[in-house]
Amino acid sequence: MSMSMAIRSTIELSEAAATDWDAIVIGAGLAGSVAARGLAQQGRSVLLVERATFPRDKVCGACLNQDAVAGLEAIGLGDELRRLETQPLERFQMHARGRSLCLPLTGGVAVSRRSLDSMLVAAAIASGVRFLSPVTVRVGAAAAEAPLRTVETLDSKTPLRGQTVIVASGLASQKRIDDERSESVADQHSRIGLGLQCRSFPASFSSGTIYMAVADQGYVGLARTSADVLNIAAAVDRQALRSCSPGQACQEILQAAGITELPDLHTGDWRGTSPLTRQRPQAGSHRLFFVGDASGYIEPFTGEGMAWAVRGGRAVVAAADRAIDGWNGDMIAQWTQTTRQLVGGHQRWCRMLAKGLRYPALTGSMVRIVSKFPSLGRAVVRQLNQEVAV
Ligand SMILES: Cc1cc2nc3c(=O)[nH]c(=O)nc-3n(C[C@H](O)[C@H](O)[C@H](O)COP(=O)(O)OP(=O)(O)OC[C@H]3O[C@@H](n4cnc5c(N)ncnc54)[C@H](O)[C@@H]3O)c2cc1C
Repeated sequence: MSMSMAIRSTIELSEAAATDWDAIVIGAGLAGSVAARGLAQQGRSVLLVERATFPRDKVCGACLNQDAVAGLEAIGLGDELRRLETQPLERFQMHARGRSLCLPLTGGVAVSRRSLDSMLVAAAIASGVRFLSPVTVRVGAAAAEAPLRTVETLDSKTPLRGQTVIVASGLASQKRIDDERSESVADQHSRIGLGLQCRSFPASFSSGTIYMAVADQGYVGLARTSADVLNIAAAVDRQALRSCSPGQACQEILQAAGITELPDLHTGDWRGTSPLTRQRPQAGSHRLFFVGDASGYIEPFTGEGMAWAVRGGRAVVAAADRAIDGWNGDMIAQWTQTTRQLVGGHQRWCRMLAKGLRYPALTGSMVRIVSKFPSLGRAVVRQLNQEVAV
């Protein structure tokens, strides 16, 4: 099943503004929809606000790893996931400097973000979440001790009030939060993300394989999400894009890595992101929790962002539930610590790998060593797939 039907608002803005919500969740990606649904299942009144019209695309490699699949299964969404059109992932094939290595994968699937995110919003609505879209909101500064946190719609400046606010607005989150203490800071050398849904590609790109091409100026991941779509996602140095188009930059990376049969990278709509690697000093502020990419993000080489988002979305339910019953300032430090426990270890791995990939000679040696000793590569894959208790 492909979920490409429009998902409309289930509430008018005027009604949303006339309600004091237990929780307002900003952003209907994985983290936001999972969090909103979990809180509604606890009997809380939840408003999920999304700036895009659903279904929407999202720059992403579209590969859900074993941990993310297990996370969705654990919250009762395994059947819904299986009903979508997915491609089971069996291999990770990495190319760098004309060499390649192949590692086996288990338990993950490639799935279009259009279908996956729509399925999650539909599940949240079915659990009682009210969905307001397309509406962009910004979070204003909080008055100390305020009993409610207010967010405001960007165009009509309509205030929306909640006992708690969950910011799950992804990498875009730094733009619309007026809160100095929790401001997110992008890494100076951070790459930016690019994405394309490609319908014209050589048959040699088979289903079930993640192809990863690594070169000096970035890396490109390719995976089929259906019989006729090759999902392309890349992390590219900003200066590489000053002199050429996204399609050219990705083509150069694929060629430098040694992939000779190329998909058509020059037609279709490329999408971009803001700088990828960013951190927040604390994962919350007064009556507010950051979750998913909004709480901090590392370049996506290991393809774990969705697992982190599902983990965060599940864990914030208990934290927000307590905050609705009675807010206290210690909850900010507690949530920051929980977030670090949930994703910190994996993000350290990911940061190390991403740094290593910036040194071409090191990448070449890594490919050589892992192709000689595949058990090393399998150990890394196992580590990345490891489930973390929520
Ligand atoms: C190039 C690239 C490749 C990747 N590949 C993979 C991969 O293969 N596997 C993997 O697991 N992860 C991958 N990731 C990471 C993954 O895409 C993210 O980690 C994941 O989407 C985070 O989910 P989220 O819910 O936190 O945010 P998002 O999915 O970004 O959702 C945020 C939502 O908030 C909405 N929003 C934003 N601002 C506002 C606002 N002001 N008001 C209302 N709504 C708003 C947006 O429209 C969006 O719907 C990749 C990322 C990139 C950039």
